[in-house]
Amino acid sequence: MTSFARPPDARLPDVRSQTREQLVALFTEWQQPTYRVDQLLHWLYATRATAWEKMSNLSRPLREKLAATFTLALPELVRKQGSHDTTQKFLWRLFDGQLIETVLIPANPALYGEASDRHTLCVSTQVGCAYGCQFCASGLDGFKRNLTPDEIIGQVLAVERWHQEQSVPAHVADPAPSEPPPAPKPAPASSKPRLINNLVIMGMGEPLANYDHLLIALRILNAPWGGGIGARKITISTSGLAPKIRQLAEEPLQFRLAISLHGATDAVRSKIMPINRKYPLAELTSACEYHVVRKGKMLTLEYILISGINDSLDQTSPLARLARRLHAKVNLIPYNTVEGLPWGRPTDEVCERFLQAVLKEEITATLRREKGHDIDAACGQLRLKTERELAHTPGS
Ligand code: SAH
Ligand code: SF4
Repeated sequence: MTSFARPPDARLPDVRSQTREQLVALFTEWQQPTYRVDQLLHWLYATRATAWEKMSNLSRPLREKLAATFTLALPELVRKQGSHDTTQKFLWRLFDGQLIETVLIPANPALYGEASDRHTLCVSTQVGCAYGCQFCASGLDGFKRNLTPDEIIGQVLAVERWHQEQSVPAHVADPAPSEPPPAPKPAPASSKPRLINNLVIMGMGEPLANYDHLLIALRILNAPWGGGIGARKITISTSGLAPKIRQLAEEPLQFRLAISLHGATDAVRSKIMPINRKYPLAELTSACEYHVVRKGKMLTLEYILISGINDSLDQTSPLARLARRLHAKVNLIPYNTVEGLPWGRPTDEVCERFLQAVLKEEITATLRREKGHDIDAACGQLRLKTERELAHTPGS
C-alpha cells in the first residue's frame, strides 16, 4: 500500500489549505508569474500529487521554497471495507496517528441531490464527536480534535487517487519528473470527469462545530481550480447547532442542508440527542426557517428510525408539521445497529407503516430500503472497532 503519511514532526500548514488567491499573493511576493500557481493547482487537484519532486514543470528552487513553506500530504490508508460497486469504507491515519473514516457510495438517485452516474463521498470533519448522541458510534470515545481544511479536502483527493491507482499503473497516474511537463496553462480540474460529484458532510464529527475549517475546505472543493464539485452537490448535515445554521445562511455558496432530527418532539429528541437541551426544537426550527427563507432552498430532515425510541406513530404528525413549516423533505433511515449500544432497527413493517403515515400528511418523504448494511453502517464504527482492536493488541 502506498504511504502518504505526513512526517509526524511537520507542523507547517498544508498547501491544500490555501486558496488560489492566497497562493497568487505568495507567488507575487516570490516574483513568480500567476500561471505557476495554476500549474501548482493542477498538480494538487488534478494529478493529486503527493511529492514536490513530481511537479516537473516547476523549477527546483520554487519546489524547494514550497517544501520549506508547506506540507504536502494525503491521509494514509489503514483499512478498507467493501468492494467495487458497493459502499466502500476507508479508514485513514492522519499525521498525528488519529483515525478517521470516509465512505464512498455508488450512485443512488434516492440519496441527496439528483441522480448521478458517479459517486457520493461521505467525509468526516472531526476526530470523534463532542455531541454524544446516544445512538451514534462517532461520539462513543469522545471528541479528539477538529480536522484541518486539508484533512477534509484530503479525504476526497485520497479516495480519487486510490481509484486512479486501481485503474491506471502508478507511473501513468503520477508522471515521473523526467517526463515532459504538462502544458503551461492546464485545464481546470473540473473539466475532467471526476469520480466524486456529490459530497455529503455526514462522516464523523459535527461539521458546524468546525465551521471555519469546513468552509475553507468546501470553498476549495467547490472552486473550478480545486475539487470542481458544485455547491448544490454538497450536503452539510448537522445535529442542530442553531446559531451556526443562521451563520451558514449568510454564506454566498448554495450548499444543501440536512438536519439530523430523529425526534419530532422535545421529549423524544432530548432523550437521544443532548444538543436538543441546548437548542430545543423551537430554536432549531426558527434557525432552519431563517436558512430556508434566506437561501430560498429546501432542506432535508433526516429521521433515523430506532426501535421503540422514535418509531411510534405519535411522532408522525409533529414530524409532518415541522416538515410543512420548513418546506422540507423527510428522509427516513432505518437505524444501523452499533456494537456495544442497545438500540435496534425496527422491522420493515414498522418502517413502512411510519412512512405511509408521514406520506398521508402530504409530505415528501423517502424510506431508505436497501439491504446489506454490514459495512453500510454510519461513520464512526470502523474507527471505533480499529481503535479497540489496537488497544487489545499486546505491544500496540
Ligand atoms: N454530526 C452530524 C453529521 C454526522 S452524522 C449530524 O449529526 O448530522 C451523519 C448522520 O448519520 C446523522 O444524521 C446521524 O444522526 C446519523 N447516524 C449516526 N449514527 C447512526 C446509526 N447508527 N444509524 C443510522 N444513522 C446514524
Ligand atoms: Fe456527533 Fe452527529 Fe454522531 Fe451526534 S449524530 S454524536 S452530532 S456525529
